[in-house]
Amino acid sequence: MKFCKTEGGNLPKVGVLALQGNFAKHAQKLQLLGIPYQYVKTSQDLAKCDALIIPGGESTTMSKLLELSNLGCAIQEFGTTNPIMGTCAGLILLSRKVDDPRVKPLGLIDISVKRNAYGSQLDSFITPLFCPFTKNRRCRGVFIRAPKIGHVAKNVQTIISQNNEPVMVRNKNIIALTFHPELTTELSVHAYFLGCAS
Ligand code: GLN
Repeated sequence: MKFCKTEGGNLPKVGVLALQGNFAKHAQKLQLLGIPYQYVKTSQDLAKCDALIIPGGESTTMSKLLELSNLGCAIQEFGTTNPIMGTCAGLILLSRKVDDPRVKPLGLIDISVKRNAYGSQLDSFITPLFCPFTKNRRCRGVFIRAPKIGHVAKNVQTIISQNNEPVMVRNKNIIALTFHPELTTELSVHAYFLGCAS
């Protein structure tokens, strides 16, 4: 499914999980791309969407909130066919295995994850990344208390690496990043997710 403006007619709607964290910045990107979006707080909200973004934030908190509602199960079901992109805490939630028992991952992409693997907030950093889907092959990587990806299953493709470690991975409709594309001025990662990268 393509979400690009050029498709014309009724554009599909992108949900942004809005339980906690950095959801407003993702919504801004969708607005800039001219793509209809809706904040998702319940499974009823999710049912109105064709794709979903799970933002950064605090994965322990988001996991608890997903468990308390039936939204976690609804996202698992949704992710069997619909596009989902998770950034930072969103990647942690999408993974299969997390080093912190307080997080119950959704298991939608077969990777293992170590939380806060670069250190504390003070060890956050911004670095240029080699990005195969942009014209100039570059994008900015904003890493904030970022996780690291450990095991990557055979069916998972690494799209972007940093220091030989995967930081953006994909298995078909599921895309997960350890960094924050919503905090740069670039639109390329969101455009790639929605299938409208130029
Ligand atoms: N360290 C956070 C966590 O483990 C993720 C940080 C982020 O999303 N920027 O949930």
